[in-house]
Amino acid sequence: MDLARKHDPADASQDGNGRVTPKTDEDIGRVTPMMEQYIEIKAANPECLLFYRMGDFYEMFFQDAEIASRALGIVLTKRGKHLGQDIPMCGVPIERADEYLHRLIALGHRVAVCEQMEDPAEARKRGSKSVVRRDVVRLVTSGTLTEDSLLDARRNNYLVAIVRARSSSPGEDARFALAFLDISTGEFRLTECDRVGLAAEIARLEPGEIIVSDALYGDAEMAPLLRALPAVTPLPRDVFDGATAERRLASYFAVATTEAFGAFTRLELTAAAACVTYVERTQIGRRPPLSPPVREAQGATLAIDAATRANLELMRTLAGERRGSLAAAIDRTVSAAGSRLLAQRLAAPLTDPAAIRERLDAVAAFVTDPALRGEARAKLAAAPDLARALVRLVLGRGGPRDLAAIAAGLLAAADIAACLDRLTPAEIAAAAAALRRPDPAVAAELAAALADELPAFKRDGGFVRSGHDGALDEARALRDESRRVIAGLQARYAEETQIRALKIRHNNVLGYFVDVTAQHGDKLMKPPFNATFIHRQTLAGQVRFTTTELGELEAKIANAADRALGLELAIFERLSERVVAAAEPIKAAAQALAVVDVAAALATVAAERDYVRPEIEANIDFVIEGGRHPVVEQAIETPFVANDCDLSPPEGESAGRIYVVTGPNMAGKSTYLRQNALIVILTQMGSFVPAKRARVGVVDRLFSRVGAADDLARGRSTFMVEMVETAAILNQAGPRSLVILDEIGRGTATFDGLSIAWATIEHLHETNRCRALFATHFHELTALAGKLARLFNATVRVREWHGDVVFLHEVVAGAADRSYGIQVAKLAGLPPAVIERAKLVLAELEAEDRTSPARRLVDDLPLFAATPRAPAPARDDVAEAVAKALAMLNPDEMSPRDALEALYALKLKAARS
Ligand code: ADP
Ligand code: MG
Repeated sequence: MDLARKHDPADASQDGNGRVTPKTDEDIGRVTPMMEQYIEIKAANPECLLFYRMGDFYEMFFQDAEIASRALGIVLTKRGKHLGQDIPMCGVPIERADEYLHRLIALGHRVAVCEQMEDPAEARKRGSKSVVRRDVVRLVTSGTLTEDSLLDARRNNYLVAIVRARSSSPGEDARFALAFLDISTGEFRLTECDRVGLAAEIARLEPGEIIVSDALYGDAEMAPLLRALPAVTPLPRDVFDGATAERRLASYFAVATTEAFGAFTRLELTAAAACVTYVERTQIGRRPPLSPPVREAQGATLAIDAATRANLELMRTLAGERRGSLAAAIDRTVSAAGSRLLAQRLAAPLTDPAAIRERLDAVAAFVTDPALRGEARAKLAAAPDLARALVRLVLGRGGPRDLAAIAAGLLAAADIAACLDRLTPAEIAAAAAALRRPDPAVAAELAAALADELPAFKRDGGFVRSGHDGALDEARALRDESRRVIAGLQARYAEETQIRALKIRHNNVLGYFVDVTAQHGDKLMKPPFNATFIHRQTLAGQVRFTTTELGELEAKIANAADRALGLELAIFERLSERVVAAAEPIKAAAQALAVVDVAAALATVAAERDYVRPEIEANIDFVIEGGRHPVVEQAIETPFVANDCDLSPPEGESAGRIYVVTGPNMAGKSTYLRQNALIVILTQMGSFVPAKRARVGVVDRLFSRVGAADDLARGRSTFMVEMVETAAILNQAGPRSLVILDEIGRGTATFDGLSIAWATIEHLHETNRCRALFATHFHELTALAGKLARLFNATVRVREWHGDVVFLHEVVAGAADRSYGIQVAKLAGLPPAVIERAKLVLAELEAEDRTSPARRLVDDLPLFAATPRAPAPARDDVAEAVAKALAMLNPDEMSPRDALEALYALKLKAARS
């Protein structure tokens, strides 16, 4: 691949074939001018891999080349010497640069893109030793991407700046300000939080990149959090300088003061300024069109911490896949921008009933008008991603297809606005107004200028419609005409020389040339032909010539083509400027399209899956009738069994209820817990819900934990994790919160676990006073209902049938009588011998347990007396014999083979009776 590179011959350090020129400075140990330039640019960007443009390639040298060749699996070659040593080199062709960039960024690298800043011909004019002027035009980092090929269309890609306030007194909790923006859509927001809230915010935003000051990055308290995150970039102190923050922010938005945006704290301003400064540094001075920063109101969104998000599988499953997540189950959006907005709303449900109702009104309007919904969705599906095309144009990174996207998007916007006239909800009316704002002349102008088929890059030319510009048409005609003349010339030369195989070809090094096979080469180098044909190059099988005529034609073609391209580029700039000038209304229209898409999409899923509009209230009621799990019901083939849930305060009480849910494994406890949490999230994000009826008193914080979940990655024992997370809940949940605890205490010895679960329930009931669902396999806990006024027992019903369990998945009041663990094990296909053996062991253990000191102690506690006790097993002679034999065994000293043999012996004993 190396020989095929088209490095420009004018670069003093490159020869025509991209091969190393022999006998140069580097051979004698001097640094070549090009290497000098490379080293200087690299030194200015030490943290980045440097993509150094040479002709049609981005080359990397030295250590960069070694890193990239390993990361990308591309060949590592050499290119000359530096201080007597070979210089490792590898490179990627510019057409495929995006793909390689994507992989490097995904691996956590940052890339500085260094371009040629002048035509190599200019460099040549300065003398043979001169080097093409180059400069870094952009730093590519994971939080500042704009290319479609580098972004997930369905997700926002946030750059987040974190700043910490020095606490004024030692005991006081640190405060943090977060500023976050999506450079590819222009969204820019601010928020403040405490240490616990910080982790939750990061979980909500799933940042593409986080920037912090060097000092914060090195801080011992912050290290565990920051080091566990994928893309954290520490930056020098000046980026986080509070004294210059307001000025930097104002300068970015070209306003005299940021007061017009709202009254921000110094901490917020510092975070916001860090974001824009980083954007300017990575975009090398260019300013993508950001919306002015908006503060997110405190408490305006439902607080959901990272563990809860993961556990409820909101955006992806625990296995990391989108399939099987709530997002995948409800996302029926038809546009990328709609999908991003839906994800945002899902990640940050609201807490203000009026705002939630406004969203529900919009969904309801589309639910009741399926025809309109279908029409709007068809139009939305055909509209391109306006926001991201716009940003690329503003950053000067856009191509002809971005212009076309703007044109088509604006036409679609106007069209959709017209079809929304019938709908009255405020959210839709506001969207329709925004869709009408952009000047229709912009779309018309773009449509008139652009061709039907568009190249990916403007440098390829051919994107301006013929007939649009007289001068351009003329230049193109001249160029095409000359090409025809060349074809004629080839025919004439073949005729004159009687070489039928004579061809006129073109390449980037020689330009146009006459190409004949070696056997005909001699003929053209002798009279009379040598008067016309001038030798250029001899290859293994080919000899190449030029002629004066060909040279003249070539110049003519090149001139015409250059002129045509120049005219096209000028037209591109003009159209681009037109778009940039209208950036603000275009951005608003793009956002409005997303809003309409989300409302119509939520209406679609509601209609498809029979969801109802939830009632949202400012109290702490929670009544679900016939609730279903939105993901499980789509995944299973059997009908889903709907279940009720009522956590509203009982008569005369001022706090909500707690359910203790018991039932065997696989009965549906976890499903039931989660479906109620998911119904809260759906309600508060403004969606209809899978239920017959739902009345939800606004939840301010939602917690969900599962016992004994693995967290090996962070190297904590599972039980430790479980306890850390339970502690977080007990310290934070309040009267408006909803807590879901699934089998807490499972990760330790039985009595430990039981005691912890016991005390946890008491704390939730007495101190947190929140609504809660608590699934447990400790049946003893059901006795607590007799003691705690707002505690209720619920169980998932099963039926026992011929010694097997049948799961009914139906939640009813009351407690489960037993675990059916062995029956479930049987269903799972454990060998019959093991099942039989387990039954025996269980009988033995239950008999022993009744007499164990611990059990007696529990029995002495009045509450536990209510626990239904397993009936004493019928003891017969066989059992006696088997039990005796069992007692003789010492499992700790047995080999697997011994154990198996003992098992056979036991079976034999049992069968003998
Ligand atoms: P548990 O937590 O009690 O062990 P799960 O909630 O994990 O049980 O449920 C086990 C399986 O039972 C689920 O994967 C699902 O397929 C099925 N299931 C649970 N609840 C229902 C339901 N209400 N209707 C139908 N199937 C259900
Ligand atoms: Mg479970």
